[in-house]
Amino acid sequence: MTTRTIHNFVDGRFLGSEREFPKIDPVDGATIATVAEADATIVDRAVRAARAAVDGAWGRTSAPQRVALLRRVADRIDERFDDLLAAEVADTGKPVALAATLDVARAAANFRAAADILAATGLDSYLTETPEARALTYSVRRPLGVVAVIVPWNLPLLLLTWKVAPALAAGNAVVVKPSEETPSSATLLAEILSEAGVPDGVYNVVHGFGPGSAGELLTTHPGIDGVTFTGESGTGSTIMRTVSPRVLPVSFELGGKNAAVVFDDADVDAAVAGLARSVFTNTGQICLCTERVYVQRGIFDEVAAGLAERAAALRFGRPTDPATTTGPLISRAHREKVLSYYALAEQDGAKLLAGGGVPDLGPDLAGGAWVEPAVWTGLDHSSRVLREEVFGPVAALLPFDTEDEAVRLANDSDYGLAASVWTRDLERGHRVAQAMQVGIAWVNTWYLRDLRSPFGGAGLSGIGREGGVHSLHFYTEPTTVCVRMGDAA
Ligand code: NAD
Repeated sequence: MTTRTIHNFVDGRFLGSEREFPKIDPVDGATIATVAEADATIVDRAVRAARAAVDGAWGRTSAPQRVALLRRVADRIDERFDDLLAAEVADTGKPVALAATLDVARAAANFRAAADILAATGLDSYLTETPEARALTYSVRRPLGVVAVIVPWNLPLLLLTWKVAPALAAGNAVVVKPSEETPSSATLLAEILSEAGVPDGVYNVVHGFGPGSAGELLTTHPGIDGVTFTGESGTGSTIMRTVSPRVLPVSFELGGKNAAVVFDDADVDAAVAGLARSVFTNTGQICLCTERVYVQRGIFDEVAAGLAERAAALRFGRPTDPATTTGPLISRAHREKVLSYYALAEQDGAKLLAGGGVPDLGPDLAGGAWVEPAVWTGLDHSSRVLREEVFGPVAALLPFDTEDEAVRLANDSDYGLAASVWTRDLERGHRVAQAMQVGIAWVNTWYLRDLRSPFGGAGLSGIGREGGVHSLHFYTEPTTVCVRMGDAA
């Protein structure tokens, strides 16, 4: 049987490679494609093509021209929606309905949001007068240049476009390194960008792994001017070390160990439904997913039972089956990691309220990376299960008595990405949300995002903020010009 090959994309051309690796379907373990792994020559050509674009006509485009182009890209994404959906579902195994709303719809939205913010702000120049010195000071923003965009496998197209759209809005050229687990949509996006009129060299894709492969080749390449990365905290710190001698600007969106705090005045049914969504969506493989749940003692048993019931109601199956609510993990290797935390929870004395194993889905799906969710109570806060990111469909519930205790427990983490607070008391909702040491805190909801707001994390969860004007600021370098009016001095 022949499988399709997923190519690199350099200077407007699709490129194969002598080295290839298989893309495995997480649903059943079949090989669904081979991927052309970029070597040093291909990565070098990609960076040089990006440089030539920035130094050439692309670097001279005006903001209104780029706004129009980004809007054409968004329209073209809408037209090729089904192709992108098929690519994303094939790579990740996530249910079709989820991929449609979570991933593909956001790709077009990311391009429209970048176009809108560029249209509204230009590149945000800044002008001040200093009358006592008879001086006029203003700043202009220019693109960083060649931006390395390195993204993970959990929301491949969403996270890719979240970075590429504003990077292009600001006038940069990019070299993209998608995850080795999810190569398809980045290559398909190359086709779509070309169809929309993005010039050759502006968007390049190199496939491969991290260390000793395309990821490392890209971050060590002397021709890049900045790195935007989403992935594990450990990888972020490796990349930071790699680029530190050149003091390159970095924007890192890293791991999370997110808390939910449920007060006893909450609408319990709504809170349980929201919690379940925040724990189980995408099989727990969203950086914003909840893994720690603190519940006020009076409603602890009710919330725990409600969450366990929702875990038991999840339906595994092929992504195209409309009855499927939950896909597999991304790979068998990732399942090993998740299952190691299931074993650790047991060892640390957890009481398992639901799931906690590998489902038997019959011979058809036996080769996949399936895992049941796990809902635990009875763990101590010092357990590694409560300290480390599992990145699976897991929730550890702990009781609390007072608001102060809840805030202290939620903030007792090396990570600081997201939190959610469930209460009917709005004043308390604001107060507790503002006390959370995280990039984003929700009250009575989860995942809802205004794409103009700053997004990122504190602590091990990242450096910098992207979103709206914050993205335009990261992807540009300001130069301040001070002009003395009148006699030179
Ligand atoms: P990962 O860090 O293993 O890989 C991410 C990307 O980095 C991949 O493309 C990989 O090939 C590349 N890479 C790995 N090592 C590299 C190196 N040394 N040099 C250059 N590139 C390298 O992460 P993952 O397992 O793909 O994704 C899951 C992680 O991503 C989780 O920790 C999750 O929380 C995090 N994440 C964070 C956000 C956020 O916005 N904060 C969003 C999604 C995912």
